[in-house]
Amino acid sequence: MKLLALPAFTDNYLWLWHNGKEALVVDPGQAAPVLEALANLNLSLTAILVTHHHKDHIGGIQELQEKTNASVFGPEHSQMPKPFKTVKAHDRLQLLGQEIEVLEVPGHTLSHLAYLVPRTTPSKAALLFCGDTLFSGGCGRLFEGTPQQMLNSLAQFKSLEDDTQVCCAHEYTLSNLKFALHIEPHNQALLNYNAHCQMLRGQNLPTLPSSIGIEKEINPFLRAHRPEVQQSAKHFDDQVCDELSCFAALREWKNTF
Ligand code: ZN
Ligand code: FE
Repeated sequence: MKLLALPAFTDNYLWLWHNGKEALVVDPGQAAPVLEALANLNLSLTAILVTHHHKDHIGGIQELQEKTNASVFGPEHSQMPKPFKTVKAHDRLQLLGQEIEVLEVPGHTLSHLAYLVPRTTPSKAALLFCGDTLFSGGCGRLFEGTPQQMLNSLAQFKSLEDDTQVCCAHEYTLSNLKFALHIEPHNQALLNYNAHCQMLRGQNLPTLPSSIGIEKEINPFLRAHRPEVQQSAKHFDDQVCDELSCFAALREWKNTF
């Protein structure tokens, strides 16, 4: 199985996963990059997985449905282009001969889903398509959900194996790391990771996929339980006293940082 991050718009990635014959794509906000990759690699599109209803994640679905035989899977939402199959937590899809598990991760939107391809062999790490819930070094804005909902959603991700490959929908890493370094200026893993990502972006390479293990070490939104992170968050909101209040403060601070 091969995984490709197709760049779209200014900073989206459309994740294409294929076995050399059949492919699936996650959140095709645009059809053109997907059609081009399918043609170049001589692949047929079997499925489209949708994490949430925002335009930059669904804009290409209609054209892809017209030009391929792909089935669409996504959350129950009025804005989802029809026809599609509604999926929900704990559903298991069989696609490209692989099992894919559906997670419900409200926060960025209320009906936001993520898709997990569990580990099949010891050497093949799990894959997580997390849409706009988790970014490398950051997390999605809370357009519809509450801080508590988002924290619970991120906790589901934190419980996954450390080497799980995290396929986020946007290349926001460097600007997220700027904020992360403001929160934890002495976090050595974060300093090293920032240097590594600067190097990748300097060569116009994606910083993704990340991994759950890396994110637990460097992402302040997964570290709101830590005293040093709570201490920093107090500079924004002196009421910060626990993981939830710290997470809420970080999310608000980041909105204007
Ligand atoms: Zn979104
Ligand atoms: Fe998005």
